[in-house]
Amino acid sequence: MSAHHWIDVAVQTPAHSPVGGLLTYRSPFGVQLGQLVRVPLGKRDVLGVVWALRDAAPADMPESAVRDVLGVLEGLAPLDSAWRQLVQFSAQYYQRSLGEVALAALPPQLRDLTSEQLARRLKKQSADRAVQTSPGPALSKEQGTVLAQMASGTGPFLLFGSTGSGKTEVYLQAVERMLATDPQAQALLMVPEINLTPQLEERVRARFGSEAVVSMHSGMTPAQRLKGWLAAHAGHARIVLGTRMAIFASMAQLKLIVVDEEHDPSYKQQEGARYSARDLAVYRGRLHNAPVLLASATPSLESWHHSRPADAEDPGGRYQRLLMPSRIGTALLPKVRRVDMNKQPRRAVLSTPLVAAIQERVERGEQCMLLLNRRGYAPVLHCADCGWKSECKHCSAFRVFHKIDRTLRCHHCGLTERVPRACPECGNADIAPIGRGTEQLEEHLGELLAHVLRPDGTPVRIARIDADSTRLKGALESQLAQVHSGEVDVLVGTQMIAKGHDFRRITLVAAVNPDTALFSSDFRAPERLFALLMQAAGRAGRDAAQSATSEMWVQTFHPQHALFEALKKHDYPAFAASELAERTAADLPPISHQALLRADARTQEAAQALLTAAREALEAQLSADPSTANWVLQVRVYPAVPMSMQRVADVERAQMLLESPSRMALQKVLWHLHAVLHQVRSQPEHKGVIRWLVDVDPQAI
Ligand code: ADP
Ligand code: ZN
Ligand code: ZN
Repeated sequence: MSAHHWIDVAVQTPAHSPVGGLLTYRSPFGVQLGQLVRVPLGKRDVLGVVWALRDAAPADMPESAVRDVLGVLEGLAPLDSAWRQLVQFSAQYYQRSLGEVALAALPPQLRDLTSEQLARRLKKQSADRAVQTSPGPALSKEQGTVLAQMASGTGPFLLFGSTGSGKTEVYLQAVERMLATDPQAQALLMVPEINLTPQLEERVRARFGSEAVVSMHSGMTPAQRLKGWLAAHAGHARIVLGTRMAIFASMAQLKLIVVDEEHDPSYKQQEGARYSARDLAVYRGRLHNAPVLLASATPSLESWHHSRPADAEDPGGRYQRLLMPSRIGTALLPKVRRVDMNKQPRRAVLSTPLVAAIQERVERGEQCMLLLNRRGYAPVLHCADCGWKSECKHCSAFRVFHKIDRTLRCHHCGLTERVPRACPECGNADIAPIGRGTEQLEEHLGELLAHVLRPDGTPVRIARIDADSTRLKGALESQLAQVHSGEVDVLVGTQMIAKGHDFRRITLVAAVNPDTALFSSDFRAPERLFALLMQAAGRAGRDAAQSATSEMWVQTFHPQHALFEALKKHDYPAFAASELAERTAADLPPISHQALLRADARTQEAAQALLTAAREALEAQLSADPSTANWVLQVRVYPAVPMSMQRVADVERAQMLLESPSRMALQKVLWHLHAVLHQVRSQPEHKGVIRWLVDVDPQAI
């Protein structure tokens, strides 16, 4: 028996390292799987997770080359096997190194603390506290049925419930029931963006007591994140409320996972390991034997498809669909009104009847909300004399005109310059904005409503909420508070304002210019638009007393479009059925599965050349082996093309789409592709490539 122990440790390694980021170390003392350790890596000491125990040093490694573990992080229980399986699966499925995923899932501060500092933090931890649950309201009939269905089924569940149907109350009561059977149990409550829904956090804390709840999102300080992580890891926190990153929270007693607004694209991570926290939630639920509740008023077509009922030809999906069609109380959904912009004066921004409707509501003391998905004053400046446009020198995009600080800003690379006094090409002083953004809409409304008074005789108040107005910390919170308190009569904003807020006095919501999404090259654009408009409509008439007169306005040049027809009837199932029929006909997700391979290089040719070489090498390799030849037939690899945003910050980007009816076949091919890419990338002719990456189940094509 040797006196020391050989272990494989997950450490932070470069993105694509195929070994999975495991390194072998020797430990003079016994360690357990999942334990956090400090190990030497090059000249540094780094944090690692014990991933495997081995009998001997690896055969290909002289014992003398193996370095010693420096120490374990005392006082921390090992990360349990469900957590390790989740990380392992995520790394494999999303084609990243295990070490990268494992370390990214831990709070950053854990890497830097000395043992003494950690010991102090642990001592400060509050021990378990009994949860003080305050009683919730009596359940509606639909809420009661849904909770009973959850109790008697295993899930995963898809809760399809209207905006204002009381979904949040269902989550709270599901947690309450979980705690009633097991006071030590933990629940994970996921939301798309926490700062957009401070009310939800308040509601959860009010119901279960602040001590029982920890938050996890990227807006927290490193110290706050560590504190929350430790509370969840030790089992002191009953409820973790967080954004997508919370899917990796260490929760040994996890017994329930809720994914609110499950259709929201922000559940997909857009850098590093491009995981879908919603999809991982379903996987994690299985690992912990915990029910998973996905919920939305406009489910993703993926989840809708997975929850389809069985019929004669189809055994049905693997999720159970739960329904809450009615709003709480007597509140009705707003009436949808389409304005045919073909019949309005040319270049009108706001139609005459919409302006009149807004005025009427302001004079009655009600609030209105106008949605325009474009920030800034105008998306481009233009010289009519020579044709100059405010292109960005570094990106294939125009710089946006921001009138407030008189800048031209690129929303992709950040390049910001003062607006030129005259055309930089020909000197013409008369350069003009084309198109409009939220800044201009705010200004325009101010002019149109200048004479309008509120019931108390004071002038109308207009406010704007978008990424520009909320750049400073706390700005969003204070702006939202102004809307809630009634200081604001008309709110202008981007999609930020459409999500989740429980505004009580809004009775009119208008989409100013939603048409572009109808004809986008991205097949998911209509799905996104429909969800956004339904969400926006859901902000109106939340108060039953005013709901009968509440309205959702849509200004469009295509009033007969099927999407708006379905919106008018608040008929998500009809919309979903027609979209799914189109997706089926075109073999698109959720019927098929996709992955994108992307390459970035100094030139477009170099980026595409890498993808094409990888494709050829892949096909040659798979065809040569009878055991893999079949996959070539199952997975369609499309030619390399420029991305729709082709150039960002002087980097040319190309992509190659892989598509298959079989997730398994796609995964196997990706696995081969990974190896092929390492070979191809190292060839001298591909020196110009900056990076490549794989996006599995991409959300934008
Ligand atoms: P959703 O999450 O589906 O939009 P919420 O859970 O926010 O809906 O509920 C909408 C409103 O109805 C909230 O103000 C909430 O407090 C209230 N509510 C929810 N369930 C009930 C109930 N059973 N009885 C009374 N009010 C309820
Ligand atoms: Zn010019
Ligand atoms: Zn740019």
